[in-house]
Amino acid sequence: MRLRMLILCLVGASGAGTAALAQPGAAAPIQLQWPVACEPGRDCFVQNYFDRDSGPGTKDYRCGSMTYEGHDGTDIRLPNLAAMRRGVAVLAAAPGVVKGVRDGVADISIREPGAPSVKGKECGNGVLIFHAGGWQTQYCHMQRGSISVKPGQAVKAGDALGRVGLSGDTEFPHLHLSVRQNARKADPFADGAGACNSGGRSLWSPAVQARAAYRSPSVIATGFANGPVTQAAADQGSVAAPSRSSPLVAYVRAIGLQQGDVMDLTLKGPSGQVLANSINPPLDRAKAQWLAFAGKKPPAAGWARGSYTATYTVRRGGRVVAQRSWSVAL
Ligand SMILES: [Zn+2]
Repeated sequence: MRLRMLILCLVGASGAGTAALAQPGAAAPIQLQWPVACEPGRDCFVQNYFDRDSGPGTKDYRCGSMTYEGHDGTDIRLPNLAAMRRGVAVLAAAPGVVKGVRDGVADISIREPGAPSVKGKECGNGVLIFHAGGWQTQYCHMQRGSISVKPGQAVKAGDALGRVGLSGDTEFPHLHLSVRQNARKADPFADGAGACNSGGRSLWSPAVQARAAYRSPSVIATGFANGPVTQAAADQGSVAAPSRSSPLVAYVRAIGLQQGDVMDLTLKGPSGQVLANSINPPLDRAKAQWLAFAGKKPPAAGWARGSYTATYTVRRGGRVVAQRSWSVAL
């Protein structure tokens, strides 16, 4: 079992924090479509929301921990690099005109040894679109060579801009979406609210509001492996599959875990017998992401033919807040 505390996505400040703020709602509203060609909660996931805490603390719009200090956008992640390489389109969230683009920044995690400096290019490959009413949307960390629009080009909502990538100041494949109205940074999940849980207006279309409900935690990947699962293999999406003669290991990746969450992972054989069970003490602090696995070496004659099932459960305050089962036939 291994964990990482925080996965960062920094795109730099827009530098207008003291400008007079437009009154939310006073100008034309904007309605945003989901900016990635993916289904939230199934093949893409919000990893970090906008930080609603104006002080040194951090809170997402639901007063949860799925953000970090000063994060001024929404991070929509893919489960792994294999998904990124298959190609997932970034889409214009609303109609507008392309104001600027940048391409040519390498797709490499800032954690990679020898990764080049991204100073001044924190957004990586990106697109900036101006919309009616002073609204702007900015799309960051896109794949090098994928940007398919040019400055001055008019776009409709849903038009492809390029693909999700790993460029700029990031360590996981995702789209960072910034929304601004003139100089004012806006949280598309609750625009205009001050602190968390104080209201605000969703800028998402009603269809997106239904699809992109707040999820904490989210299970972003499950599977079986032939041995202990490394963070690197999980990041790549290249975990080696088990056989009847290899160890059998169930693994799960979850994001958005909160302090006090209790997780367990159980692996059962074809007749329902428990082969492995990993029960963890309550988390001592929130975890942006978590990789857990539980497994067993094969019996001398190899695994019996049949279906093997793993179940992962997260309890919060005694209540089940996430549960997922998955199976493999050996
Ligand atoms: Zn971000």
